[in-house]
Amino acid sequence: MKFIYPLLFILLLLSQCNTEKRKGIIMTVNGPVHLDQSGIFLTHEHILVDFIGADSISESRWDRAKVINKCLPYLRQIKELGCRTFVECTPAYLGRDPLILKSLSDSTGLNIITNTGYYGAHNNKYIPAFAFDESADQLAQRWIKEWENGIGVSGIKPGFIKIAVNSDSLSGFHKKLVTAAALTHLKTGLTIASHTGPAVPAFEQLDILEKEGVAPEAFIWVHAMNEKDPANLIKAARKGAWISLDNLNETNILEYVNLIKILKQNNLLNKVLLSHDAGWYDPAKVNGGEFRGYTTLFEKLLPALRKEKFSVKEINQLLVINPARAFEIKVSRKE
Ligand SMILES: [Zn+2]
Repeated sequence: MKFIYPLLFILLLLSQCNTEKRKGIIMTVNGPVHLDQSGIFLTHEHILVDFIGADSISESRWDRAKVINKCLPYLRQIKELGCRTFVECTPAYLGRDPLILKSLSDSTGLNIITNTGYYGAHNNKYIPAFAFDESADQLAQRWIKEWENGIGVSGIKPGFIKIAVNSDSLSGFHKKLVTAAALTHLKTGLTIASHTGPAVPAFEQLDILEKEGVAPEAFIWVHAMNEKDPANLIKAARKGAWISLDNLNETNILEYVNLIKILKQNNLLNKVLLSHDAGWYDPAKVNGGEFRGYTTLFEKLLPALRKEKFSVKEINQLLVINPARAFEIKVSRKE
């Protein structure tokens, strides 16, 4: 019974999905997909994450078939609930495995998007040693090459740039990562999703992008709910940045509803992205450890937003239109 309400609502939502015909594309692990086919997104989730560190990680640490077996039912669940596009945010050296994602996409019919870029948060534990010596331009060349030729020998292309910085003022190395992301964006049109948290590094990153000629529209402020003052989210959104509220779980539904209401009151519903940051098959644990599914948005948040009089059109904006715009392959230059 518990699925009936969200399902009826999502059918209504899907019937409205095509109201906005856009010409652009997103890049999935199975190639380009037109924006009128991208449907409802989950914009920040994970399949496999390996916390061993860049110096020790290797694909031999996991068994692809076992990971796929474990994760498949969770993806089938969200497909049934109306999700069409799943953005997998695990970067290289943290367990990014495009072949697993392709297999999961083939089995479920979901569009799955992977990424290029490096993850500097957690004091660079997930940064490969060579990256410290290379210039921003050299790093960008590596990421652009993945866009042009695919990741490794897989032929699978990234659909966005994922970077991560520490939660305080940017270090010199993290500034270099952001600059590399800006250079990559200008060559590829891939959007930059940066694990950020609080406002200080968020605005510092927007400043670097501006200096490099990249518009805030190309930047997703990942984990924006870790910034406690909504005024800063409003300020960044007014500049054009995407505000990613991406740690939705059973315990914070009301918090999310309140924050989304504040952004709505400021006419900024068109800058909000929603997701769970869930999943996490951890190869260091037996059978990947405890796995968090991706259904809270559909089963809990949507009914709560409907109760607060959010219209079908507004929810379509949050789940369909905003993510399509955010992940569209498109160079956004600062005028
Ligand atoms: Zn994440």
